[in-house]
Amino acid sequence: MVHLVSDEHMNPAYLWLNGEVLRWEDATVHVTELGWSTVGAVFEGIRAYTSMDGGELFVFRLNEHMERFERSTRLVRLRTGRSVAEFNQIIIDLLRVNESMEDTYIRPLAYTAETGNKRFAQVGSDAAVLINTHPMATHLLTGMTMTAKVSSWRRISEDVMPPRIKNLSNYRNSSLGTTEARLDGYDTAIFLNTRGTVSEGPGSCLMMIKDGVLITPDVTSSILESITRDALMVLAREVLGMPVVERQVDRTELYTADELFTCGTAAEISPIVSVDHYDVGHGQIGPVTRRLEEEFNNVLRGNEKRFAHWRTPVYAGAAVRS
Ligand code: PMP
Repeated sequence: MVHLVSDEHMNPAYLWLNGEVLRWEDATVHVTELGWSTVGAVFEGIRAYTSMDGGELFVFRLNEHMERFERSTRLVRLRTGRSVAEFNQIIIDLLRVNESMEDTYIRPLAYTAETGNKRFAQVGSDAAVLINTHPMATHLLTGMTMTAKVSSWRRISEDVMPPRIKNLSNYRNSSLGTTEARLDGYDTAIFLNTRGTVSEGPGSCLMMIKDGVLITPDVTSSILESITRDALMVLAREVLGMPVVERQVDRTELYTADELFTCGTAAEISPIVSVDHYDVGHGQIGPVTRRLEEEFNNVLRGNEKRFAHWRTPVYAGAAVRS
């Protein structure tokens, strides 16, 4: 069993804070900003991957991530004062100034800097924005597998918190489920939504293969509108030629699936080999999951031409897509 994200955190030389590229040790905020400021914070998680020959770094679906960042800020009524195109360029410039040449995680975060009396009402607040990067190794094609438990915690629902955006507060729910799963001896949790159908993982979406069909909970199943999920549905359809179905998924379908995996920016493709002690298929990584891992890895590292529009090269000097 391997955990998804390593605890190793290597700080970059520079990060971006409110319009300035600052040395990592100089990017500080006042201690009184701690607390309520992050309740309404929203963020993104983006990955960049080195090319097969190691000479280029590609950011995966940068524009789509920053469009979701904008949707997140709009939903929580935060103003960043910057366009998606501007943020795209800021991220490329930050990777360049850090001379990032390894697989990297990029995390933009918008939060309310002034806390004071604005604890609850967040109407048109100006956001502080931080963009941080750090190395993150891939686990694609390493043979990593996970065991899962259907959580006793339900995934937050649309009538309580907005599951479809990356609201930092949502992750209390992820944390409760993951902690329970780990204490109970599993690697990860799978959440049902409040309707009792399958939702997603703590920081990832869920896909299963049954009789040659790729099935994934639909976007009204209390899931995040995941960019990896979207990419893998395209790859399954267009490269593997598989039927793809988005629909409600029942809990017992997890127990009878041929293959099951979580997907996401950090999760990439993470095969699940058992759920609640039921083996998934033969209890090992299945053939479709393996094929998808290979094809996805080729897309991320620029080893194919068809999905070049999903990659923003950091060093080629090419204009950033917007
Ligand atoms: N669900 C949740 C709750 C997540 O945090 C993530 C990771 N961003 C995902 C799903 C997967 O989304 P994406 O593919 O856009 O990273």
